[in-house]
Amino acid sequence: MARSRSGTRNTRGPRRPMRRGPNESGSFHPVDPAQRGAIEIPASITVKELAELVGVNPADIIRELIKSGIFATINQAIDRDTASLVTTDLGYEVSETVADSQAAEGGGEVPQEPTGREEIMEGDDPTRVVTRAPIVTVMGHVDHGKTSLLDAIRKTSVAAGEKGGITQGIGASEVEHNGRPLVFLDTPGHEAFTAMRARGAKVTDIAVLVVAADDGVMPQTAEAIDHARAARVPIVVALNKMDKPDANPDRVKTELSEHGVYIEEYGGETPLVAVSAKSGMGIDDLLETILITSDALVDPKADPKRDAVGTIIEAELDKGRGAVASVLVQTGTLRVGDVVVVGETFGKVRALEDSHGKRLPKAGPSSAVILLGLSEVPAAGDILRVVADEKAARAIVEERKLKAAGRSEGTGRATLEDLYRQIQAGQTKELRVILKADVQGSLGAVTHALDQIQTDGVRINVLHQGTGDITDNDINLASASDAVVVGFNTKLVGTARRSAEAEGVEVRLYDIIYKLSEEMEAALRGMLEPEEVEVVEGRAEVRQVFRVGKSTAIAGSYVTDGRIVRGGARVYRNGKLIATDRIDSVRRFRDDVREVATGFECGIGLSGFHALEEGDIIECFTTQMVARAARS
Ligand code: GDP
Repeated sequence: MARSRSGTRNTRGPRRPMRRGPNESGSFHPVDPAQRGAIEIPASITVKELAELVGVNPADIIRELIKSGIFATINQAIDRDTASLVTTDLGYEVSETVADSQAAEGGGEVPQEPTGREEIMEGDDPTRVVTRAPIVTVMGHVDHGKTSLLDAIRKTSVAAGEKGGITQGIGASEVEHNGRPLVFLDTPGHEAFTAMRARGAKVTDIAVLVVAADDGVMPQTAEAIDHARAARVPIVVALNKMDKPDANPDRVKTELSEHGVYIEEYGGETPLVAVSAKSGMGIDDLLETILITSDALVDPKADPKRDAVGTIIEAELDKGRGAVASVLVQTGTLRVGDVVVVGETFGKVRALEDSHGKRLPKAGPSSAVILLGLSEVPAAGDILRVVADEKAARAIVEERKLKAAGRSEGTGRATLEDLYRQIQAGQTKELRVILKADVQGSLGAVTHALDQIQTDGVRINVLHQGTGDITDNDINLASASDAVVVGFNTKLVGTARRSAEAEGVEVRLYDIIYKLSEEMEAALRGMLEPEEVEVVEGRAEVRQVFRVGKSTAIAGSYVTDGRIVRGGARVYRNGKLIATDRIDSVRRFRDDVREVATGFECGIGLSGFHALEEGDIIECFTTQMVARAARS
């Protein structure tokens, strides 16, 4: 598991002094950090619980969180890394041991919840890590100037020696500011960002939120804020189009705070830079601010000496060259000749190229390159890993394919039923929800209803809410964040239904509020535990009864419909039920078999009832765990 920022932070400078004496906080009496032992923090903890654990006012915790770009309410659950960070920032020591046994890692490949704040990747050697360039995604409402801003950034700050025009897209652009590199992903927008995240990729260190000063916070601005927040990626606001006469920065700043983005000028921690993509004004300042924010909140690190790990940002099939993929190397060094596994495909790196098509022998952390040599075209967001050899690669790919097959059978993501199991196992304390409603009024009514739901220690966390139809975008966010999508008076549009099925994202649609809150509450309380449902598998007619010993009988039978398997049995004689029992054995000739289909003969042995007669009908049934019927 990746080391959290909290683990290395202490070496970076003096801890912030406590700003509040014991008497100013009413009933709270904070312990002097120096006298307090190390604090053990569980895998997930609410702000309120953390405040109690540490012995400070919850407001202090919230303030510290805001400084890190996290806006949490008092009852919101935060993960251990975040909690440790805040606790350390408050001057307390955090124990390396984890208070909650559930926090022990399960050996999963991808962390449960990408935090976007992990400076060291799993497998990096802490003694070898170096600072790498921050990777930045530009987000914002359509026409607010995302593309223009990216162009302006590339124009003013293309790294030395890179001039002369880009010849091929490598999915990301490296620029330089004061001699320091930054990498911008070429595809702006939270759609691409979240689609990648839904595949497990976590590439972005900083999100630049572009807001047109003459237009203000619009629906996609709000979405972008939620998407960045769900990924725990710090935001830098680029207030664009400042050259326009009707630019109204104050209005935009107020609107941002209404959406929980508190800019520095208003006492918050989110930096805002006024820019004009058209004139180039403020671009240098923006780059500077991104670097400062990255240093302060992310401090991205990588280990250049290890085997590479990266993410595919674009890929296509080229007639002459086969699968062409742009890879963003996140840690390690990727070399020609390396064997790599990418999603469910693998290959040997035949060539690496830069944006000019120049062949490179290797590519280090935070560099984007074209990779040739994969046997199939991977998907954007697929994670690339260097492995020992082709044998290892093949084994990993096989296993992934099996796992993927399992997932498509619906065992993957968060569902309401699944949530119950997670609560029971102590693995989660919240139900994450993406909420869509037809109009603002009903959205308000639904959130109010959800707020009323109280259950022990488990709560609903609405990651994103909005009006309108449920789109692919909502499904991707849900998939990336292990959330369920709840729709009120709304529907799935476009390919959203298909995506939801493919991703295993649960979507629940309602048109009555009390039904909605009833089911959410039931989910939290574990009432949606799967039901045992009886399924009739088939019937067989007894043709001949063989006595085996005194008390046992085998019924030579003919399967008239469905199939006969080991499971429950009901025996009917002249249309009347005369016994309920279990089928212990099913035989074809001398062999025990798992099932016998319609039109075949078989021997059926029941476990308790042996008074079978010719002409009896044996009905075979099984019980299956079935999710309780959801309204849809
Ligand atoms: P995107 O949809 O967010 O990528 O927005 P674009 O970059 O395509 O820009 C949308 C429109 O706004 C285009 O007509 C741009 O020329 C214009 N635009 C972008 N930035 C600025 C700016 O700083 N000032 C002015 N006046 N226009 C801008």
